[in-house]
Amino acid sequence: MSDCLFCKIVAGEIPAKVVAESDTSLAFHDIAPQAPVHVLVIPKRHLTSVNDASDTDEGLYDSLFSLAQQVVTDEGIRESGYRLVFNVGVHGQQTVAHLHMHVLGGRLMTWPPG
Ligand code: AMP
Ligand code: ZN
Repeated sequence: MSDCLFCKIVAGEIPAKVVAESDTSLAFHDIAPQAPVHVLVIPKRHLTSVNDASDTDEGLYDSLFSLAQQVVTDEGIRESGYRLVFNVGVHGQQTVAHLHMHVLGGRLMTWPPG
C-alpha cells in the first residue's frame, strides 16, 4: 500500500532499526519506545489489522510469533518475561493501520493496561 508508513519501511523508503527479518515478516525498534525493549513485528504484506487477516493468510501468525521468539532471545528478555500486544481499531488505540505486534520488555509491566 503506497501511503502506508510500515509498507514504506518494508520497502526501505523510510529508515528503521531492523532487528530481525524472515521471508514474510520484519521486526524493528519502535520509534517511541514505551519500555527498554520495544520492537514491532509486522507482516511484510499489507494487512490493516488483525481483523484483516483471514484463512488465506495461513502461516501469518506462525511467522510473526516465530520472529518475536527470535527477538526476545536476541534482546535478552526471554527469561525475564515480556508482553506481546496487538492494538486493533479505535478502542484498541491502533494508530498505524498496518497489522503489527508490539514486543515489550526489560521492565515490569503493569496490569490492567491504561
Ligand atoms: P499502535 O498505536 O499500536 O498502532 O502502534 C504504532 C506504533 O508505531 C507506535 O508505538 C509508534 O511509536 C510506532 N511508530 C510510528 N512511526 C514509526 C516509525 N517511523 N518507526 C518505528 N515505529 C513507529
Ligand atoms: Zn502497510
